[in-house]
Amino acid sequence: MKDISCKLLVIGAGPGGYVCAIRAGQLGVDTVIVEAEKPGGTCLNVGCIPSKALIHAAEVFEKVSHMAGAKSPLGITVEAPKLDLAKTIAWKNGIVGRLNSGVTGLLKKAKVKIVHGRAKFRDGKTVEVETETGTQIIRAETVVIATGSAPVELPFLPFGGPVISSTDALALTKLPEKLVVVGGGYIGLELGMAFAKLGSKVTVVEAEARILPQYDSELTRPVSKRLGELGVTVLTGAKAKGLSSKGDALVIEASGGEEQKLPADKILVTVGRKPVMDGWGLEEIDLDRAGKFLRIDDQCRTSMRGVYAIGDVTGEPMLAHRAMAQGEMVAEIVAGNKRTWDKRCIPAVCFTDPEIVTAGLSPDEARAQGREIKIGQFPFAANGRAMTMLGEEGFVRVVARADNHLVLGIQAVGHGVSELSTAFGLAIEMGARLEDIAGTIHAHPTQGEGFQEAALKALGHALHI
Ligand code: FAD
Ligand code: NAD
Repeated sequence: MKDISCKLLVIGAGPGGYVCAIRAGQLGVDTVIVEAEKPGGTCLNVGCIPSKALIHAAEVFEKVSHMAGAKSPLGITVEAPKLDLAKTIAWKNGIVGRLNSGVTGLLKKAKVKIVHGRAKFRDGKTVEVETETGTQIIRAETVVIATGSAPVELPFLPFGGPVISSTDALALTKLPEKLVVVGGGYIGLELGMAFAKLGSKVTVVEAEARILPQYDSELTRPVSKRLGELGVTVLTGAKAKGLSSKGDALVIEASGGEEQKLPADKILVTVGRKPVMDGWGLEEIDLDRAGKFLRIDDQCRTSMRGVYAIGDVTGEPMLAHRAMAQGEMVAEIVAGNKRTWDKRCIPAVCFTDPEIVTAGLSPDEARAQGREIKIGQFPFAANGRAMTMLGEEGFVRVVARADNHLVLGIQAVGHGVSELSTAFGLAIEMGARLEDIAGTIHAHPTQGEGFQEAALKALGHALHI
């Protein structure tokens, strides 16, 4: 097989890698991308997209089930719905398939060469890829590592049999009657809530004192309340110990120290993700680490000249849009443009029910930086649009500097607030002050009006509360 020489080699076609390759191709950089599995990476194949498809299907099923109970305040009643999970999963797979082809098409349009197989470093500028037709050697002036992340496995609860990862959970075609989720973080709660809505009896086991410990308790309270309404049992301060001898229950140490057995058909372990550091010859190039991740600077350069790293392999926050933004920046740098990481915030959305959005600093984070702040909070209970959608739970909160009113952070919890993340990110990135948000006409009736009202509240003159 003839060796390939190129200007840029990208390893991994997840959101970080494929965006980097597309942008580099658009900029006329001779680019090759290597992918061991399917284009789109974790995000598109077993992460963001399939989980949001399942969450949507579960939300629809739960809404219709609620109406069958004849309790719907909307005056709509229906017969009890039936679930064909295999069909739901086939629908989800169809979306993933369309997006796989879409990414491949975009790479081709940008004239990026795609090589299928697992890349392994020979040295900092050369990799070998085992392809279906033999070993492909690729030499590159610049290499971008975008190998992503994989689920953390608990040594005393290895994946297999009833113990499943998020990837397995997104492919189930039979609904587990009893599902125990280990880890009440992003994945555990997004998927745990979805399975509860589809009809599983769900128990969440979280080691910390509360669920979603990365968010403040004001933001997570409406999610806890909804978990209760959905009949999800949440055990905090509890540690998974292992599978019962019969393999039909999870043994835990509950918060009081006593041992408990939680009967389960499936045990979904979602205790975090780890960078993919094995299988690509890292030992050949010995890059510096930052903890368990690859260390990068503000241009995503690693400790080796001409070798960049982007996305989950470089650490928190492990989010697809961070990986994409890093990928785009690195492509520009490789093409000779001056760029550094100068983003003011990376918004984050937790697709629980209700959803949580954060952008920039929380009140506690701002105070910890020694800043004097003003906070404005507006409840959706006072928002007309939220009322018309039975979504009065939650609020928007704006955090600004007390002296010049520069907005430092915006958070929200509520029905459908994920779409507000765009406005929040834009406001912070553009350096908005409270007066800019308060002075912008927000269309009526929308939940976005809650954002304007929160800014007005921080200024001391909210109109609708
Ligand atoms: P990845 O997407 O992991 O892609 C890495 C790619 O590299 C993979 O395709 C892999 O096959 C390939 N690869 C690895 N090693 C090699 C090698 N040696 N040779 C060739 N190819 C290789 N993030 C959000 O922002 N929003 C969400 O809603 C969200 N939901 C999620 C839900 C779930 C269930 C999960 C698991 C994750 C979710 N995430 C979400 C996180 C998101 O998926 C990741 O942050 C994102 O995919 C990281 O992108 P990446 O390009 O760094 O790596
Ligand atoms: P996570 O870090 O969000 O949550 C893991 C949870 O498990 C934590 O609350 C932790 O306290 C708990 N935990 C750890 N060890 C435990 C143990 N032994 N027993 C019980 N609980 C334990 O991790 P995740 O849910 O696996 O998600 C991984 C990453 O994927 C996230 O950090 C995020 O970056 C990304 N993700 C993002 C989204 C989104 O943006 N909507 C959705 C899913 C995943």
